[in-house]
Amino acid sequence: MSALLEITNLSKSFGGIKAVNDVSMTVERGQICSVIGPNGAGKTTLFNMISGVLRPSAGKIIFDGQDTTNMKPWKYAAAGVGRTFQNLALFSQGTVIENILVGRHVHMKSNALDAAIFWGRARREEMAARQRAEEIVDFLEIEEIRDMPVGGLSYGLQKRVELGRALACDPKILLLDEIVAGMNHEESEDIARFVLDIREELGIPILMVEHDMKIVMDISDYIHVINFGSKIASGTPDEIKANPDVIKAYLGES
Ligand code: ATP
Repeated sequence: MSALLEITNLSKSFGGIKAVNDVSMTVERGQICSVIGPNGAGKTTLFNMISGVLRPSAGKIIFDGQDTTNMKPWKYAAAGVGRTFQNLALFSQGTVIENILVGRHVHMKSNALDAAIFWGRARREEMAARQRAEEIVDFLEIEEIRDMPVGGLSYGLQKRVELGRALACDPKILLLDEIVAGMNHEESEDIARFVLDIREELGIPILMVEHDMKIVMDISDYIHVINFGSKIASGTPDEIKANPDVIKAYLGES
């Protein structure tokens, strides 16, 4: 079976800067895959192209057998690409469940032309959305805070809500952009456990950008290393730890 995500010779320039330069990589079904590299290496730019936030300057993205390279940005969630952002992007006055429902609504489709059955269908979709949101709340163990405004929660819990919102669109792949940045050790370990559960229990593959090397080495099946926009290595955690180019460019820093 072909890879779930296949990126070929992808590039992105901003003016004279080649933020991503001729990068090719794949994410297989069932994999937890990480992209690592120094600050400014091009990791977020790569994520933004895969999730439709940015259009590539060159190259190709095939997702689940479909060419998504130049797909309209609002179609990505419905196509099955879920993501979190480096900086929290939640509605701070909304409750936990409301924020998760926002993610679900991105996924819902309605045929407004079919006016006769529109409202009945919308009601059924809304009920299904609420049920799915409740299941996600249970899965992420945030039942007790489901009706609390997100703005008053700890950073770790807010990140869990963001994970819930990304899961609400029933993604076929989940892109996590520095999901444990700014968290204490306990919060990071919690999130790592949920990432593993998302793969094991929900069967959703993960592609993550992460600076926390302990989390990356502990939970990744496969790692891609980016430096100055170009991929310099790919391999299992043990292969990456032992790669002299990676140690020189990145791991040696820490
Ligand atoms: P970090 O680990 O610090 O988040 P990163 O690996 O995610 O960094 P990017 O944010 O993708 O790196 O940035 C890659 C390069 O592209 C940097 O030189 C950055 O300044 C530049 N860049 C990113 N976005 C833009 C933009 N919108 N306009 C101009 N330059 C940009």
